Amino acid sequence: MDTILLDSSGNGLQRAAELIRNGSVVGIPTETVYGLGADACNEAAVRAIFAAKGRPADNPLIVHLPDFSQVTRYTESVPELAYRLAERFCPGPLTMVLPKNSRIPYVTSGGLDTVGIRVPSHPAMHRIIELSGTVIAAPSANRSGYPSPTSAEHVMRDMNGKIAAVVDGGQSELGVESTVISFDNDSTVRILRPGCVTREMLLDICPEVIIDRAILNELAEGEKAASPGMKYKHYSPKADIIMVEASAVAFAGFAAEHGGDGIYFLIFSGDEGNFPCRCLTYGKDSTEQAHLLFERLRELDDIGAERVYVRAPEKDGVGLAVYNRLIRAAGFEVIRI
Ligand code: AMP
Ligand code: MG
Repeated sequence: MDTILLDSSGNGLQRAAELIRNGSVVGIPTETVYGLGADACNEAAVRAIFAAKGRPADNPLIVHLPDFSQVTRYTESVPELAYRLAERFCPGPLTMVLPKNSRIPYVTSGGLDTVGIRVPSHPAMHRIIELSGTVIAAPSANRSGYPSPTSAEHVMRDMNGKIAAVVDGGQSELGVESTVISFDNDSTVRILRPGCVTREMLLDICPEVIIDRAILNELAEGEKAASPGMKYKHYSPKADIIMVEASAVAFAGFAAEHGGDGIYFLIFSGDEGNFPCRCLTYGKDSTEQAHLLFERLRELDDIGAERVYVRAPEKDGVGLAVYNRLIRAAGFEVIRI
């Protein structure tokens, strides 16, 4: 199959929506990362997403709606707290896990009785959903296990020949996937995957916000994942990633001792001045680091890095999302100095 590159003009979006209506898979820009979109209610189309990504069948897809008011069409029940969250965070990078109804096939929900619901804010994604007349299941548009794509070029590299089209909407604004939450009870939400809607932001609306243990810790042998994505190795480039929790000065000292052939360091922007080894920067604060992380991980593969030591980001605010992606990319290998 030839994968066509569409622009995000009216015609490009019309064509993308038409392809989705006809059961094809299309790479679509969103404000988080690029998604691999298909009709969430069409089992064959959803199977084609899993096949293109090489994604395990029990790893559920998020379903994207044009407007939160449509949530009742696809779910059994919606807690009052979800509506209050939607008022503040929809459209935007927040996914809420809710009990699904029969309009959502089990292929889409990875066999679960729940479904992740999101209302994206990216104008191209939003328009494609509207024009398609359905709701769109869209995981990140990378090969399973590899860093998520933040440009149309990344998607083309991973998916050329496997999907019908990619819509070019430029660089993803946020750079990490949505925050995924579930509801423990009427007043408590649980963060299953951190993102740009932070714990601190959720606490403005929710009395209690729990960070699931698996966000920062490896699942124990036999431990059940609250969210299936937690089970799998994720976000990993070919290079071996190792996280280092250290100050800028301590990290430079560590680098001086650990540099060598094929070894790179991923450091904060502003720290490159006297850095003793080959390095790339990934931003000066957590928001910039979220925006740049996946692009840098792909770049490190392109330049042939074999091992990469990454200076760990902060763990609060958006930093928790960056930390979570990195600790998984590193297979939970963290050095603390
Ligand atoms: P991706 O599609 O690559 O953005 O990954 C979506 C992730 O959201 C999955 O790997 C799951 O961990 C999580 N997720 C989606 N739907 C559900 C659900 N129904 N229950 C729990 N977690 C979910
Ligand atoms: Mg993904």
